[in-house]
Amino acid sequence: MTQPGLFDGQSFATLDAVRREALECRRCDLWRSGHRVVFGAGDAGARLMVVGEAPSDADDRTGLPFSGPSGGVLDAWLAELGLSRAQVWLTNVVKHRPTVTENGREKNRPPRTKEAAACAVWLAEELRHVRPELVLALGGSAGKALIGRDFKITQQRGVVLTGPDDVPVLATFHPAYILRLEPPELQEAERLVLEDLALVRRTLDVR
Ligand code: SF4
Repeated sequence: MTQPGLFDGQSFATLDAVRREALECRRCDLWRSGHRVVFGAGDAGARLMVVGEAPSDADDRTGLPFSGPSGGVLDAWLAELGLSRAQVWLTNVVKHRPTVTENGREKNRPPRTKEAAACAVWLAEELRHVRPELVLALGGSAGKALIGRDFKITQQRGVVLTGPDDVPVLATFHPAYILRLEPPELQEAERLVLEDLALVRRTLDVR
């Protein structure tokens, strides 16, 4: 049975039309905390789509996904695949940066379920236009958005699962999680990520 799409409803003729519409989005309250929409970027005909959680503070400044320290880690992972970020489509579950204020400081936070649901229209349209052969979901939020709310990164990373409209989805850790780890957990997580990247390579048949 075919898996349902992420969002049934509005659709746009081109990816540029999707981007233009998303830039004006007020479908959830995240537009109040994020300074700008961080839409997907890269190759609109890419075989691999990478979906993270949400824009970082760096992304919120530049308007580009994965422009901070997590992006540096992701670049190294893509290099393992012989790819650059210009050869994949990079995006996030939500397009505005979710924040929380702690001790007077603004920090990142994961998107809430209703925020991810509100933003699914844009991710669904990115999937429909880019038509990737494989989606690499980074972290639990991306896994939940693409596989289902019961997705657990600890149990379901490292296998190719069926995502919306039957697109193959492989989940691995988010680079921001890797950046928070210390030895020996760091080495173990990096080992698992390398296994996951090897599976990406085999699935896409790239060398
Ligand atoms: S996070 Fe997504 S749904 Fe919410 S306002 Fe921004 S673009 Fe719209």
